[in-house]
Amino acid sequence: MSEVIHAPELAHEEADEPKRISHWIGGQVVAGTSGRSGPVYNPARGEQTGAVDFATPEEVDAAVQAAKAAFPGWRALSLSRRSELLFRIRELVHTHREDIARFLTLEHGKVLSDALGEVARGLEVIEHACGIPTLLQGRFSEQASTGIDVYSIRQPLGVCAGITPFNFPAMVPMWMWAPALACGNTFVLKPSEKDPSASMYVAELLQEAGVPDGVFNVVHGDKVAVDAILEHPDIAGVSFVGSTPIARYIYETGAKNGKRVQALGGAKNHMVVLPDADVDMAADAAVSAAYGSAGERCMAVSVVVAVGDIGDRLVAAIEERLPKLKIGSGLDPASEMGPLVTREHREKVASYIESGREQGATVVMDGRELEVDGDGFFLGVSLLDNVTPEMDAYRDEIFGPVLSVVRTETYDEAVRLANENPYGNGVAIFTRDGGAARRFQFEIDAGMVGINVPIPVPVAYYSFGGWKSSLFGDSHVYGPEGINFYTRGKVVTSRWPDPATSTVDLGFPQTR
Ligand code: NAD
Repeated sequence: MSEVIHAPELAHEEADEPKRISHWIGGQVVAGTSGRSGPVYNPARGEQTGAVDFATPEEVDAAVQAAKAAFPGWRALSLSRRSELLFRIRELVHTHREDIARFLTLEHGKVLSDALGEVARGLEVIEHACGIPTLLQGRFSEQASTGIDVYSIRQPLGVCAGITPFNFPAMVPMWMWAPALACGNTFVLKPSEKDPSASMYVAELLQEAGVPDGVFNVVHGDKVAVDAILEHPDIAGVSFVGSTPIARYIYETGAKNGKRVQALGGAKNHMVVLPDADVDMAADAAVSAAYGSAGERCMAVSVVVAVGDIGDRLVAAIEERLPKLKIGSGLDPASEMGPLVTREHREKVASYIESGREQGATVVMDGRELEVDGDGFFLGVSLLDNVTPEMDAYRDEIFGPVLSVVRTETYDEAVRLANENPYGNGVAIFTRDGGAARRFQFEIDAGMVGINVPIPVPVAYYSFGGWKSSLFGDSHVYGPEGINFYTRGKVVTSRWPDPATSTVDLGFPQTR
């Protein structure tokens, strides 16, 4: 193992031996002491390129203490100064977007163009946070009672923590730290141990922008670090994005420890295609949304519900597009889809093609037949037709490039199917019938709905979040709900000395 280095160097080297990735506490790289670490791979080559330190509870505490010490100064900074800093952060992230994207490609595997898209969507959240003076405006009621004014303000929680998944190593942390910092909180990020370098690089950019040391900290690790966060008495709020079982655990444990928690879970996103839909448009959308980022998106379409007689035409149109997709290293500009994140995940995803076949689905395209040079974690695209709700391929969140097609006779059956699914993240309908689309929007039990849009990730000034097992807690992330999550409301009732309104009155205060 080599010496501790700043993670950014990692991406620009073809490492002969794994580089060590350590924590970022109080404005500097701090080497872990646990002796425990996790492997970081270049999924396109199947090689270990890094080893990330796993934090002890004491190291998590050191990050929390740094954040706690930085809080009074940070929350006292004027809104215009905070906004100015956010504008600077925005500029630096924008300027270095290709460096960030390169980390994502090297450690996650997604193709560079997709990685740039991820950074762009994260930037939108930072841009929204630049408007913090307006976003934190309260309300004021003059003369609520005689001589009395009432007004509301929103104040930061204190130290907040974010625990994030492997599939958006830059954007999802930005969903959290940008509004959290803008609201005046300080932050401890625990990124995914599978692709931790982007967070270290961003930490350096925040420092370069002028964010005081301790305001933003990064600790790496596994359940030990996460539990230390959930139990830490000085952490007021926890944001989590990841799989449903862990989201439920984070919500329950965080809430038990008195924290405010928002925990976003997994998904099984349905795309309902009505018989009147434009088949080519629907097929383009299904292919883009199912196989983009190798299906490792919480908003990926994983089930197409073909209604009525459109099924055969739609499956044929999807099948026709699949051989043209270019699968390869994310650094190759010709690649449209990269590898999966780890070998284990690749094997698990591939197992659903087999179980689908065994359980009666028609395997229209089998991604296991992709010829692969080298040891990369590549899997070709798969299409399963005639999938039914009992099959594992339908029931589980596969999180890979496997698209299932379920056929239903009617619109009502399609909606029932989607509504009975335990997840409720994103959903889409493809149709030319405005009335049907409006009815769908009214009836569907999901947090984000696309009408002829397959991946309806809300823009930064709305909020992102699912329903049912896709969200624990009652607050979505970023946008107005993000601002609410990272602040507490306070209402001030004020009166200034005026003898005319002063009496002794032991009754319960009433407005006059
Ligand atoms: P994951 O749940 O395995 O890990 C997420 C985070 O939790 C990581 O930081 C990880 O270190 C930590 N963690 C893992 N196991 C833990 C345990 N036992 N105790 C405590 N912490 C633990 O998720 P992942 O595999 O990194 O990401 C993919 C999942 O995230 C998918 O289910 C996907 O749908 C979901 N996701 C959801 C959204 C959304 O917005 N709803 C967005 C992106 C990803």
